[in-house]
Amino acid sequence: MDINTAKSVLQNTFGYTDFRHQQASIISELINGADVFTLMPTGGGKSLCYQIPAIVLQGVGIVVSPLIALMKDQVDALKLQGVKAEFLNSSQDYEEQRRVEQLITSGNVDLLYVAPERLLSDYFLSLLDRVTIALFAFDEAHCVSQWGHDFRPEYQKLSIIGHRYPNTPKIALTATADMKTRDEIVQVLNLTGAKTFVHSFDRPNIQYRISEQKNSKEQLLRFINTEHEKDAGIVYCLSRKSVESTALWLTEQGKTALPYHAGLASDLKDNNQQRFLREDGIIIVATIAFGMGIDKPDVRFVAHLNLPKSIEAYYQETGRAGRDGMPANTWLAYGMQDVIKLKQMASQSDGNEQFKFITQRKIDALLGYCEVSSCRRQVLLNYFGETLAEPCGNCDNCLNPPVTWDGTSAARKALSTVYRTGQRFGVGHQIDVLTGKKTPKITSLNHDQLSTYNIGSELTAMEWQTVFRQLISMGYLAVEMDYGVLKLTEKARPLLKGECAIQLKVQKYKKPKQAQNKKK
Ligand code: ADP
Ligand code: ZN
Repeated sequence: MDINTAKSVLQNTFGYTDFRHQQASIISELINGADVFTLMPTGGGKSLCYQIPAIVLQGVGIVVSPLIALMKDQVDALKLQGVKAEFLNSSQDYEEQRRVEQLITSGNVDLLYVAPERLLSDYFLSLLDRVTIALFAFDEAHCVSQWGHDFRPEYQKLSIIGHRYPNTPKIALTATADMKTRDEIVQVLNLTGAKTFVHSFDRPNIQYRISEQKNSKEQLLRFINTEHEKDAGIVYCLSRKSVESTALWLTEQGKTALPYHAGLASDLKDNNQQRFLREDGIIIVATIAFGMGIDKPDVRFVAHLNLPKSIEAYYQETGRAGRDGMPANTWLAYGMQDVIKLKQMASQSDGNEQFKFITQRKIDALLGYCEVSSCRRQVLLNYFGETLAEPCGNCDNCLNPPVTWDGTSAARKALSTVYRTGQRFGVGHQIDVLTGKKTPKITSLNHDQLSTYNIGSELTAMEWQTVFRQLISMGYLAVEMDYGVLKLTEKARPLLKGECAIQLKVQKYKKPKQAQNKKK
């Protein structure tokens, strides 16, 4: 079959003039019976890559997706365009499921969206034995991988499909995959020999900025007021409680800010989401529950008031800014407590040792990204296996190179305090000792007798926080899971012994001096 058939579907059914990026090549592989692996950033146009082949090939195209909540919307949108699309998932009643099955067996469905557990049921597989299958599309394919940030055990069982239907074209699609994840997807879904299409992850119109958390709400307001007065944007918070308090606070400051998290009544959630999509200049304050499948092109900023859980998550969340290609800003504020919380979450998380190990490595990669003094885009793209030859000129570190100072002496004071207090306390107490506070804890433990008591008065408590944060991020200190107790690592030894030096970053609170994105 040739690509012109596909192109006429693109134009007549979907109303677009031309294929984008590698869509034409991907589609052409599939309609000629080959398997495909596609790595494309969010918003790159993955859906058409399987929708069009499913329409032009004979039989039903099976789209496996974990996003049950989005299936109905996706199918409704396709139906409006005249596509014979249906879905099957646990939200439907018995009769509705029967109706869809009937349509499938009578050959009246071109695209079927289905959750993995449904697809893999014996009942459904035997139903599929009676129909012609155009292709299998595995959306969000990183869910098969323990290395991915969104592992779902039922996705691993999809390996059955590869063995059962070796001759049916298959496509795996994901927006987030490092090399390890890629390999695992290909292996589990039996896609060896598949043609791989990797679309660059670079989003040159997005400016990446990270700053230290001081008073995050005030910092956020300043960021919005000076750079995004009337713009639509997303503010991500870690907890539902902080979503609500931040939205309320922004509203009190005269912004139109709406909360969104999984705990809100569903009509309120829908309403807030619809307003964000339809009205101009709405700020949505949300947990990460918000965003999957949201396609709003003119989001001008994404702000994080807490650390995301991995670089993948950060990339995906910030990637919701500037989909229209116009300049957009991403800004993240994080502090000591975030670092500790994330490290604790990793060690406490359910899951086997391997999973914990992976989670830790991912957090380390994220912290490394946050603390880096060189071009952020280079680090980010490198994480996804790409190289950017030159610094980007459009991240905070490029625009305003961080100033570093010789932190050797400060770091040694900090590390010896951890040592002298017996590696049994958290950051707060260490700083109290260093700055010579007379707290009840210090007095009762006689920590005012230690040789490191009050030896750190050259820095403020706030400055000590940044020293500790950097020492943790750089792996000189480990955080114990339960109480945030600090321990020295092997790496700390040479520094303590004076065998090596360390450069620390001076924290800056101003915005980059020549922000290219400044609109108007
Ligand atoms: P992804 O799944 O990769 O995040 P989508 O498939 O949702 O991306 O596509 C993102 C947006 O781009 C959608 O609004 C889609 O309609 C649009 N789009 C995709 N392909 C084309 C094309 N060839 N021409 C114009 N718009 C396109
Ligand atoms: Zn840069």
